[in-house]
Amino acid sequence: MKQSLIIAAIFSLFLGASISSEAQLKPRPDAFPPEADEFAPKALQMASSVEQMAGWDCYPTYETYLAMMQQWVYSFPNLCHIDTIGTSIRGRLILSMYIEPTTDDDLYRPEFFYSSTIHGDEITGFVMMLRLIDTLLHGYGSNPQYTNLINRTRISINPLANPDGTYYRGNNTVQGSRRYNANNVDLNRNYPDPFATTKAALQQENEMMISYVSAHNFLLSANLHGGSEVMNYPWDSFTSRQQPHPNADWWEEVCRRFVDTSRAYNSSHFRDVNSQGYIAGGDWYVISGGRQDYMNYVHNCLELTMEISTQKSLSSDRLPEYWQFLQHPLVNYIAEIHSLPYGVGIVPTEAKSAVSVYPNPAVGSIILRGFPSGEIAALCDIAGRELNRFTIGGESTTIDISVLPAGIYIIRCAGGITKFVKQ
Ligand SMILES: [Zn+2]
Repeated sequence: MKQSLIIAAIFSLFLGASISSEAQLKPRPDAFPPEADEFAPKALQMASSVEQMAGWDCYPTYETYLAMMQQWVYSFPNLCHIDTIGTSIRGRLILSMYIEPTTDDDLYRPEFFYSSTIHGDEITGFVMMLRLIDTLLHGYGSNPQYTNLINRTRISINPLANPDGTYYRGNNTVQGSRRYNANNVDLNRNYPDPFATTKAALQQENEMMISYVSAHNFLLSANLHGGSEVMNYPWDSFTSRQQPHPNADWWEEVCRRFVDTSRAYNSSHFRDVNSQGYIAGGDWYVISGGRQDYMNYVHNCLELTMEISTQKSLSSDRLPEYWQFLQHPLVNYIAEIHSLPYGVGIVPTEAKSAVSVYPNPAVGSIILRGFPSGEIAALCDIAGRELNRFTIGGESTTIDISVLPAGIYIIRCAGGITKFVKQ
C-alpha cells in the first residue's frame, strides 16, 4: 500500500513536471473536441468517377474510392492485390492495397503498413495514401528508387480505416465527416491498452484490424491523422520521463529525416506543435487505447503517428500542395524498414505466443506460463538490461515483482520472450 502510494506520488510529480514544461505546446487535437473552424464549410470537391481524380484535387466518393482500388489491381495484376481487412458497422469495406511483385525468387521481404483516417474527419491522409499507391505502382519499372523499394519490401496501404466516419452523411460526400465510428466511439482510444486495467469493448473496425495485423508480421508502420503537423512517436501512454521508448533515439532520427525532407520542398510545415516538428506522444498529451502503443507493445511493430495537416478536413484544392512536400518523406519512411534498430524484428512470431505472464498488468507477483522447466530466465528492463536471473521451477513459477518500479519489463529465456507491465 505504502509503496503504491509512493509510486503514485512519483507519478503525479512526473505528470506535474511534464504539464508545466509543455504548457506552450498546442493542445493535441486527438484529445479535444474539434475547434469551431472544423465545422466551417470548406471546399471539399468530390470526384464521382476515377477520371475526376486525375488532378488529385478532389476527395473520392465512396464508390470512386472502391473503383480506384479495383482499377489498380486490373492495371497491375502482377504487382498488387486488395486485402479486405473487414467491414465497418454500416457495411462499408475496410481495404488495404498489398503491393508485392510476383517473382520466382524466395527473397525475404519485411512487411510495412500504412493506415490512414482512423478518425473519419482527418481526410488528408486518405487522399495521400491513394496517391501514394498510384505513384508506387506507376513508378515500378521506371523509377529506380520505387522499383528497388517494391522489390525489397511488402507494402500494405490501408487508405481509410473508418469509412463510416468519413462518409457519415452518405457515400457521395465527405462534408460532415466525423471523428467517430457509427457507434460514436473514438477508434483510436479503443485498442486493447497494455497499460490500462480497464479494457473498452472492442469495436468491429478495430477487431478486424487486429485480425489483419495479427495475420501479418509488420515491422514498421504509420497511422495517419490530421489537425496538426507533427511526427508523434511512442509512447502515447507515458511521458518520455515516465517511460521512454527503448528506440527513442532511432525514432527521433527517423522523424527528423521525415521533417527535413518535407521542409526541403516546403519549409513552412510541421511547425505548429514545436519547431522541430516531432515529439514523443506522451510529452504532447497522454492518451490510452491508441493504436500506436498497441502496435508497438503487442506486435513489436514500430508504429508512428503522423499528424500531416493542420486542417483535419483539408480544402480539396490544397491536396496537391500537401502531396508535394509529403510524397518523398512518405516513400522514404517505408525504406526505413531496411535499417531498423538492432533487435527489432528478430523475435520469431512463434516465440511471441509460446510464453506469457499472468496477470498483466501486475502489481505484487507474476506467474510464468509456458516457460520450459529447468531453463534459466532473465528479467530485463525495457531497454534490455538484465536485472535478475532465476531458474524456472516448472509450470506456474511465481516471481515477486513488488520491489520493481512501475514500467514495462521483459522476461526472456531460450524458449521465448514476453513482456509485462508493473503498475
Ligand atoms: Zn486523429
